[in-house]
Amino acid sequence: MDVLSECLGYLQRVGHTFSKSKKLSKHAADLSAALEATERANIVINAISDGIAIINDKGIISLFNPAASEMTGWAMSDAVNLDFRSIFKFFDITEHPIPDDLNVIICAVRSNNPTQQNDVFLQTASKKYVRVSVKVTPFGKSNNGGVVVIFRDITAEKREGGQQSDFISTASHEMRTPIAIIEGYIGMLLNPATATIDSRAKVYAQKAHEASQHLGRLFQDLLDVTKVDDGHVRGNPILVDAGAAVRQVVEQISVQANKKGLELKYDSVGEIQPLYIIYVDIDQFQEILENILDNAIKYTKQGSIKVSVTENQGKVHISIIDTGIGIPAEDVPHLFQKFYRVDNSDTREVGGTGLGLYLIKNLTDRLGGQIGVDSDYGKGSTFWVEFDILTREQAIAKAHEIKARRGATAGRS
Ligand code: ADP
Repeated sequence: MDVLSECLGYLQRVGHTFSKSKKLSKHAADLSAALEATERANIVINAISDGIAIINDKGIISLFNPAASEMTGWAMSDAVNLDFRSIFKFFDITEHPIPDDLNVIICAVRSNNPTQQNDVFLQTASKKYVRVSVKVTPFGKSNNGGVVVIFRDITAEKREGGQQSDFISTASHEMRTPIAIIEGYIGMLLNPATATIDSRAKVYAQKAHEASQHLGRLFQDLLDVTKVDDGHVRGNPILVDAGAAVRQVVEQISVQANKKGLELKYDSVGEIQPLYIIYVDIDQFQEILENILDNAIKYTKQGSIKVSVTENQGKVHISIIDTGIGIPAEDVPHLFQKFYRVDNSDTREVGGTGLGLYLIKNLTDRLGGQIGVDSDYGKGSTFWVEFDILTREQAIAKAHEIKARRGATAGRS
């Protein structure tokens, strides 16, 4: 890639000089150096195992290397001079076409910034799917440049990762049964109706009970994480009234908050909550909120948790504000990493696996949303999520899409 950019830059510079010059002979040395560089670039481009394509500012493919041809099934001679949309048809891992506003090439062209998508399906000439990671880098000026698309087949990589996670998921699944049995027996030991133990034994049994519950949660979270990492979490997006869906979760979880003596409040903007229609899988959307609320309750000793749903630049902004222990600034950038837990005297007594935020960050990304946190250590935290609000026209278009999808599913079954 570096050689390629170097060569392109070089050719542009030389071309520029030529156009200004009347005496071509003066630049013979430059020309020969340029040709040599092009030849070198060609050798690299042809030998490289990543697919490489260059698309000009009109969207036409001007270069397509052998690896690109092998991966897509398009002959180099057929691909060159075609509009890139004919060759680069991207689908998400649930095999739904990726819309233009999320298409990695279109995003790079529109923003004139490098873009990347790590796990996406590319449809081949024979309508099969190949799993790829794609990187798109713009070069030159917007009306005199283009983009370089580099893509890699990650099928084998994912298969290996899949075997590893198959092991974790089978192991977690198998271990859940004995853990449940242990938990059940300890529960009986602690129940005065089924067993009589002295107060010292009761303390030990209680500790064992908590540990077995923690282990059960850990295995459940591990199962969820392997599903997410494998891309096995399939969504069924529908049109959702964000305010109503949030309110439902708040109502369900309020019992848990009240038990701890915390006030959990849904903060509506006015008498009537505006309608914010978003396009998400409702179970996954609510799982994200449940998780954040669960944490807010867990990490708040006293005070309140406030949930608000507002609009922010075409997005619905859902914030969950707690008056809990807060998060030290140095931990904030790591919170969404796998197994990350803040380790201090405030958190040590609260059980957890460090997987919840990792899971919901993944889900939020999959649903096309954003998630973030602002926190004041010792005072409280605000977790927020944002999703695009659909315009009326977009909602109608999506409704048609959903109908067509349902029709196709019914036809298949
Ligand atoms: P856990 O199972 O440990 O709660 P999470 O991934 O859900 O795992 O959260 C990661 C860490 O982020 C937690 O261990 C905790 O230190 C911190 N955290 C999450 N939510 C809050 C919150 N509302 N207030 C304070 N700390 C929080």
